[in-house]
Amino acid sequence: MSDKKLSKEQFLQVRPLKSIKTQIIVFALLATIIPSVTMGWLSYIQNREFLNEKIKQELRVATNQVSRELDLWLKDRLYDLRVFSSSYVVLENLEKTLRQGSAHLENVVAHRRLKDYLRSVREKIVDYQELMILDLQAAVVATSSDKLTSVKLPERWLGRAQANKYSVGGAYWDEILQAAVIVIAQPIRTTNERLLGVLVAKLNFETISKILMKYARGEIGELYLITQDGFLLVSSHSLSAEFLETKLLHNTTLKLFSQEGEPHAYLSYHNQPVVGALKRISELGWGVVAEKQRAKAYAQIVRLRNLTLALVIALLFLIGLTAYLLSLSLVRPLNRLTSGAGKVASGDLDVDVPVSSGSEVGYLTEVFNDMVARLRQGREELASINETLRQKNVELHQISITDSLTGLYNRKHLMETLDKEVTRSERYSHPFSLLVIDIDHFKNYNDTYGHLAGDEVLRRLASVFKETIRNSDYAARYGGEEFIIILPEISPEQGVEAAERIRRKVAEQKFEGDGEEIAVRISVGVASYPENGEDAETVMRNADEALYEAKRLGRNQVILANANTKKKKKKKSKAN
Ligand code: GH3
Ligand code: MG
Ligand code: MG
Repeated sequence: MSDKKLSKEQFLQVRPLKSIKTQIIVFALLATIIPSVTMGWLSYIQNREFLNEKIKQELRVATNQVSRELDLWLKDRLYDLRVFSSSYVVLENLEKTLRQGSAHLENVVAHRRLKDYLRSVREKIVDYQELMILDLQAAVVATSSDKLTSVKLPERWLGRAQANKYSVGGAYWDEILQAAVIVIAQPIRTTNERLLGVLVAKLNFETISKILMKYARGEIGELYLITQDGFLLVSSHSLSAEFLETKLLHNTTLKLFSQEGEPHAYLSYHNQPVVGALKRISELGWGVVAEKQRAKAYAQIVRLRNLTLALVIALLFLIGLTAYLLSLSLVRPLNRLTSGAGKVASGDLDVDVPVSSGSEVGYLTEVFNDMVARLRQGREELASINETLRQKNVELHQISITDSLTGLYNRKHLMETLDKEVTRSERYSHPFSLLVIDIDHFKNYNDTYGHLAGDEVLRRLASVFKETIRNSDYAARYGGEEFIIILPEISPEQGVEAAERIRRKVAEQKFEGDGEEIAVRISVGVASYPENGEDAETVMRNADEALYEAKRLGRNQVILANANTKKKKKKKSKAN
């Protein structure tokens, strides 16, 4: 495998998102999460709208009811006051007290009567905290109270009284009465339409509080009245405890008053997150606020959201698990296939991937196994062909260096070997000896006994040479009836001895020739390295010359070359 190729693990580390397993899981999770979150979101929005509408209706109903009842209540109070203001007792006694120069006693009695009247009226109607009669200079003529009191009259009370109209004032804390009050005033006019003064009632918040409590039930958490500045007047929770002391945030007040009837989310005056809406009470200039705890109001939606979330998570888990198992069933055989392919790529054909599924991957695995089996078979065949070729090559080489008749090395191989022997001996400064052997009068032998018999002689002599020399020695047929033997590590004297031994052995051989035993003789020329030359050619030539000398001197003998003098040196040994 080349260096650039990555293993499967490295490959997937570089591109983690490309793994089939990851892709299947990501796809399954996306396919789950997108529709479920979209549907969940849509249903959440729809439910929220529905719930908002419901909350709006509830808040509206509550504020409308309170506002209607308050209007009615105020109308009733104004009507009562109008009735009392036109009572005979009031008119007659007020006129008396106002008349200049009336007798002191008469004045006192009139005062007394007015006071009694106011007291008796006040006792009848619980909403009256105090009833007063004021003259046109706003001086108190009579009051139901025992204490000396004062009153904050409504703005433009006089003008309205002159126009025969009632006036409604703001709410305030009456220090003397120790109560929160609203002031209403009705003009007191004589039968001939003369304005005498005003009948003023300080109304307490008891009935208002009851109205608020009555409607602050069920879904509505709290109902209360606020002034235009956001100050709390009275709440369904507590009666005047925080009267004009606590207040809504400025922005909240603005929002509530400017978008009447619309639900808003804000922090209530006791810092609770709430949803509330306001309705104006036109006559009093106040607002009635209905509130629900925000958590309670939207509990349904939170439940729905949690349920949806739990469902989505459960779905994600289930689908993710299924996708994981699916990917495993796909990826496992693929992994086996991949590692099988990796083995094949690295040259190991001993691979058989188990076919575990009937899917496309299973089919691919079968095809892969088939392919590997074929490759294996091909490789085995190739290996056997290679082995045959190698053997043939060895044979061919053997043939190319062997003399076919004698089985000795041939001339070509001899020349190469000789060169190598010179180089080797040179390197290690070792000697070697070379014998050139020629059969004596061989032509005659051939002529007499035939070529086949001559061939047999050549073969037999080759066997004799092989038997006589050491394993480390070397014998070759130089050509015709000439042989060469190389004797490594052998000095000239030892070489001559060896040559002599060979000559004698040959002479001992008996050959068949026309029914008689015939002996064959050889002549041998011996030359050595380095005495008779320092290269193959010179050693050969000197050995050849020594052979020639042996022939000249009568054959059947061994002659050692003399390299230094180049003179013939005779070393003759007699034939047996
Ligand atoms: P000398 O003693 O001078 O060597 O005489 P000679 O006859 O041996 O020498 P010559 O060179 O005249 O003859 C060599 C003969 O060797 C000639 C040939 O008939 C014979 N010869 C060469 N090669 C073969 C061979 O392969 N088979 C046979 N049977 N004879 C061969
Ligand atoms: Mg010859
Ligand atoms: Mg010869």
